[in-house]
Amino acid sequence: MAVPKRKTSKSRIRSRKRAHKITVPAAQPCPNCGQPHLPHRVCPACGYYKGRQVVTIKTE
Ligand SMILES: [Zn+2]
Repeated sequence: MAVPKRKTSKSRIRSRKRAHKITVPAAQPCPNCGQPHLPHRVCPACGYYKGRQVVTIKTE
């Protein structure tokens, strides 16, 4: 069985794990209402996606 020749250093492990971090995608302004919304998601403020209403937003 192949065995690593050297112990993986803390620095190398930590450096590798830095790449596993989840980053929040930058919110973009909605083209319909201007409120920030996540890309490839329905706008939570107006329920629009791809220029049409796909979800009805309850207003109280
Ligand atoms: Zn919107």
